Amino acid sequence: MNMITNHMPTAELQRLDAAHHFHPFTDKAGLAAKGARVITRGEGVWLTDSEGHRIIDGMAGLWCVNIGYGRKELAQVAARQMEELAYYNTFFQTTHVPAIALAAEIAKLAPGNLNHVFFAGSGSEANDTNIRLVRRYWDVMGKPWRKTIIARWNGYHGSTMGGGSLGGMKPIHAHGGKIDGIEHIDQPYWWGEGGDMSEEEFGLARAQELEKKILEVGPDNVAAFIGEPVQGAGGVIIPPATYWPEIQRICDKYGILLIADEVITGFGRTGNWFGSQTFGIRPHIMTIAKGLSSGYAPIGGSIVCDEVADVVGGAGEFFHGYTYSGHPVACAVALENLRIMQDEKIVEHVRDVAHPYLKERWEALTDHPMVGEAKLVGLMGSIALTPNKAKRAKFASEAGTVGYKTRERCFANNLIMRHVGDRMIIAPPLVIKPEEIDVLIERARKSLDEAY
Ligand code: PLP
Repeated sequence: MNMITNHMPTAELQRLDAAHHFHPFTDKAGLAAKGARVITRGEGVWLTDSEGHRIIDGMAGLWCVNIGYGRKELAQVAARQMEELAYYNTFFQTTHVPAIALAAEIAKLAPGNLNHVFFAGSGSEANDTNIRLVRRYWDVMGKPWRKTIIARWNGYHGSTMGGGSLGGMKPIHAHGGKIDGIEHIDQPYWWGEGGDMSEEEFGLARAQELEKKILEVGPDNVAAFIGEPVQGAGGVIIPPATYWPEIQRICDKYGILLIADEVITGFGRTGNWFGSQTFGIRPHIMTIAKGLSSGYAPIGGSIVCDEVADVVGGAGEFFHGYTYSGHPVACAVALENLRIMQDEKIVEHVRDVAHPYLKERWEALTDHPMVGEAKLVGLMGSIALTPNKAKRAKFASEAGTVGYKTRERCFANNLIMRHVGDRMIIAPPLVIKPEEIDVLIERARKSLDEAY
């Protein structure tokens, strides 16, 4: 077997990567010309690359390494679990202790009567589960015609056929199409789309699009509404305060199931265990993944309320599941992650460092000539880049060019920040300390200056 290690020259690793590794969400040929940055180690909020640079990870990997890199306890738990029981399935009337313990722990942490966990391998898979769950629910309730799921443009729910169809990202729909029975309404993005309305008015108006869509489709045809408490991949769009209460009112009025996709906002990101608690949402189903295991093992799931679980679970076999539903190693790792989060009071830490320490420094970036708004909830934030703040104008150049340039400057300055069009976003590991926030802000400011 070829021995490929961290000690090989970067150029050789990049050559092999370009030859054999087909990356997700990447221009393959473009990357081959440039060479991918090879990440070799992680510790806390810091990454090291193959050239020895120390990079501050402002994105917690892909919004997932909530407890930070390099926690040995998780590695030890994984090794112990692999030795004891590396795999067994949870199909066909078997179970095992890691799945039981993790499901019970999640039910304890989740609000309201969200007491039942259906495990998946990722957030996308969990959202595919949700499509089947809500449609099956209405079948069993004697209304099989209630199939339509309403979601939002620029929402993100994964990139499987189901998740990608629920999401409102047109480039994803363009590559492979979209499944039937999913409708989209506009997003609550005030800075970009609010026009002359106040944030409050705009939040209400965008929520009321849900009612319009329900009436258009026919209230008796709608199975569910799905939304992220805060759109993450869409650019950290923090909705106006009026938005979610109105969405909740409309779902209640028409008896529509409400799915909160908490893949990013779950497990402390917004300063509570779940974003639904921060925004006062009462979902029937929550999608979870990422922070559940802090990204140390691939695992996701749907937390299902008593009513939906009783109806679907009380009607014979639910013909759905994944080989890795409740994988014992992933469950053991996730359970240890949740233990650490509770013992080390990481959710409380988010509240302590986010407000006011990070918030003040983040919002101060609006004194930069290119930064329009700066928004933050817990440890997820975004800034809008603009050539004219008063007009909330967009850059005339092709969408994303200035954002891309800023992101490239961040990368060169050893800060990972992502751009979505002309929005720059952060979601650092939840364990970030004030002095690390200072480094992040300093590097962000330098990168903005260089991109300006
Ligand atoms: N839902 C949301 C809100 C997400 O942000 C993501 C991933 O970023 C997903 C679902 C898909 O999760 P995964 O990439 O684990 O399939």
